[in-house]
Amino acid sequence: MPAMPVAVPPPASDAAHAAAHETHRRFRHGAYSVQCPTCHVPAGDPCLSRRAVHTARRELHRQSHNGTVLVPLLVARAR
Ligand SMILES: [Zn+2]
Repeated sequence: MPAMPVAVPPPASDAAHAAAHETHRRFRHGAYSVQCPTCHVPAGDPCLSRRAVHTARRELHRQSHNGTVLVPLLVARAR
């Protein structure tokens, strides 16, 4: 039993993606733990683009957390 299905139906993966973003935002995890240098939203607020976290924000978070990736799936999909 693989931990991750090989092919996830688009609706399910999109919902999981949105849920992961919402969870991260609510608890200020991941890129949401830092202010966005691009759209200047404070920590805990979603980027103004809504669909994605700005690259600069993700980079800032990565620098402040020594490159630790807590949610590989989320990072992979956001590329
Ligand atoms: Zn932003």
